[in-house]
Amino acid sequence: MPVHVIDFHIHIGLKEHWHQWVHEYQNSSQSEFYKRYEELIVPEKFALYLKDNSIAKAVILPDLCPITTGVVPNEYVLDFSEGHDIFIPFCTINPSLTNHPELDAKKYIQRGARGIKLYPSYNHFYPNESRMYPLYELAQRERLPVLVHTGSSVFRGSKIKYADPIHLDDVAADFPDLILLMAHGGRGIWYDRAFFLSRLHPRLYLEISGLPPKKLLNYFPEMENNIDKFIYGSDWPAVPVISSNIEAIKKLPLSEESKKKILYDNAAEILGL
Ligand SMILES: [Zn+2]
Repeated sequence: MPVHVIDFHIHIGLKEHWHQWVHEYQNSSQSEFYKRYEELIVPEKFALYLKDNSIAKAVILPDLCPITTGVVPNEYVLDFSEGHDIFIPFCTINPSLTNHPELDAKKYIQRGARGIKLYPSYNHFYPNESRMYPLYELAQRERLPVLVHTGSSVFRGSKIKYADPIHLDDVAADFPDLILLMAHGGRGIWYDRAFFLSRLHPRLYLEISGLPPKKLLNYFPEMENNIDKFIYGSDWPAVPVISSNIEAIKKLPLSEESKKKILYDNAAEILGL
């Protein structure tokens, strides 16, 4: 398989970073793979593993979600990514843990973060709260993409009301040049809404991690008419076999050009590659 995919959604972290119930969930859903997980979380090995799975570039995400999944520090992700071209580290800001989201983000950007991930339903905040606005201002100015979890989550303590894509309408309207992505495309109950919003706002995108590729056209029947807005992500390790995920996308009844846009071109444009 040619190495020409950008994966916009990969989680890494040591076992001790995540809460016990996260391990229990992973073990119950994919125990064989999860036994190997820890061996893979070494930068050199992981880079090779991704290349073997046709990934040319991978967005690597930290988690500051102490009440739901755990804490994978920004510093850990930045250190992990250093010196490896294939990794594109993002930082994350939890507004309950800081009074100055933008100052924290600035610090991580200086250290190499190339985008920002937000977890509203894991950290119980609305992404259109005014305290988040200086962060969006910074991201807009620096042309850094902001990836926001939308839709459902299996993890204990997460609250879906915060993950309604409609809250991003305010953000996209107030920051028209901000590159915003809806991770998981409004998963569960808001596919239509997320799709509609992505058509309404020129810089609002749908990132499809954690969605079964075979179902994409059921969730987004008009996908091909809005193909410039779709971005591939795996949500690894939640999806253990990245290559079969990509193969399934390649089998969708879409044009070759459209598949290339989902798997590489759209993300390359957003990331300035
Ligand atoms: Zn994720």
